[in-house]
Amino acid sequence: MDERIIGRIEKIVGKEGYSVKTADLYAYGFDASIFHSAPDIVVQPRTTEQVSEIMKIASEERIPVVPRGAGTGLCGSAVPIKGGIVLAMQRMNRVLRVSVEDLWVDVEAGCVYDDLNRELSKHGFFFPPSPGSAEACQVGGMVATNASGMRAVKYGATRDFVLGLTFVRADGEIVRAGTRTIKDSSGYQLARLMCGSEGTLGVITEITFKITTKPKKSASCLCGFDTVDAAGRCIAGIIARPLIPASCELLDSVSIEAVNKARGNPLPDCKAICIVEVDGETDEVIRRDLKIVEEVAGETGAVSVTPSFDSKEIARWTDARKSVMTSLSALKPGYSSVSLADDMGVPVSKVPDAVRAFQEIAARNRVTIATYGHASDGNLHTKMLIDPTDKDEWERGVKAVDEIFDVCIELGGTVTGEHGVGISKAPNYMKERESELSSIIAIKKAMDPLNILNPGKMEQWRGPILTRLRYPCKEFA
Ligand SMILES: Cc1cc2nc3c(=O)[nH]c(=O)nc-3n(C[C@H](O)[C@H](O)[C@H](O)COP(=O)(O)OP(=O)(O)OC[C@H]3O[C@@H](n4cnc5c(N)ncnc54)[C@H](O)[C@@H]3O)c2cc1C
Repeated sequence: MDERIIGRIEKIVGKEGYSVKTADLYAYGFDASIFHSAPDIVVQPRTTEQVSEIMKIASEERIPVVPRGAGTGLCGSAVPIKGGIVLAMQRMNRVLRVSVEDLWVDVEAGCVYDDLNRELSKHGFFFPPSPGSAEACQVGGMVATNASGMRAVKYGATRDFVLGLTFVRADGEIVRAGTRTIKDSSGYQLARLMCGSEGTLGVITEITFKITTKPKKSASCLCGFDTVDAAGRCIAGIIARPLIPASCELLDSVSIEAVNKARGNPLPDCKAICIVEVDGETDEVIRRDLKIVEEVAGETGAVSVTPSFDSKEIARWTDARKSVMTSLSALKPGYSSVSLADDMGVPVSKVPDAVRAFQEIAARNRVTIATYGHASDGNLHTKMLIDPTDKDEWERGVKAVDEIFDVCIELGGTVTGEHGVGISKAPNYMKERESELSSIIAIKKAMDPLNILNPGKMEQWRGPILTRLRYPCKEFA
């Protein structure tokens, strides 16, 4: 990057607030996706005003800017494909104010999710979305991807907790959007527009989240099935009772085999598993709800039903579920679990149809696919096991991805339930959102007329997704 521009940036953030070292540029070229592309400079601001000054320079000089949280995104949203500035938010990490009586917290965008909840738990409150990356991901990244997790079925996604936020526009203007009230019908909901915007509309610097009380009790039940259809009937049956579980995780046979092989058989050997969690204020409520889960599991043909109040046993199950992604990589020597079509959503009643279709697609395209996820809200994850050095494997993988997303769209679903679009979902996102595309393009133009904020992603992506791969496959470097 031009020394003159580096000098201007240094005046704003100081010597310690930026880096152009090769190692840093290389490191900030990754997120947790399959892509890599290095920026020209990494800048770590401390205040909203510093972000604003940086954006003014970027605007004047037409430099691309990619806001970055912890880089845990799985679809390339934080990878700077056009170079330029990575604006890394980790130094803006303070919890600014907790107002328990008004049910909100003000927090800087670079605060890590678990750190925020540690602070809220002192007051008996929490911010529920619970992504699997909770110990690392930042709340700004969560808003920008509308992240969620296991508890979305009962508590909602990040979007459902955003009351207001401060963001910096592409031209450097600082905007305070939304309110600190629980209700707000005051015109366009700009704060909500930033949810899922993936750094393309502005840099989020502070957020006001609604908070909620933490349930005092919880328990879980692990149910094994000999078909994925039976597991699907169990989930639908629990909800129809009616009982909204705190979470309900589904694992298919490939996921179970991978976890059992890699982690010493923590799960029963069967074709599908549901781990259902219930929560509430008293032991009585928990026992009543767990009984309902056991009953429905029995009625829908479970081959094993194991209720548990033992936090250590439940932690082992949760750990097994969270280990699917890494366990899969250990299933076959030389193969890796990659995030291609990793995060689709379908109506809950269609989960068995989707899982069955994914297994057929995997067999047809000769790839291994593990399906698992938050089945009671219809959000599934499919990790693909391929040899990442083999061009043919990647091409078969992408063909399978397109077929998977076609199935999801046909079933009335979405190509992404929680991880976002970035690069890997971009072509199928455009298919899914066809009738919204002209409005989406108009909004981007109005907010970022020079197209400097995270350019080339989402609706701007053109061409195949097999490019700039982080893996040693020279055809797609
Ligand atoms: C092991 C693992 C488990 C995961 N489990 C889940 C899960 O259960 N649920 C889930 O939803 N996701 C999950 N993810 C994906 C990821 O963690 C989430 O999308 C997370 O919200 C990303 O946060 P981040 O801070 O890492 O953002 P990054 O990856 O750094 O960025 C993501 C996007 O947000 C934008 N962005 C970041 N900060 C800002 C900001 N301040 N202003 C504007 N734009 C910004 C970036 O430009 C980029 O487009 C998982 C990832 C991993 C690796």
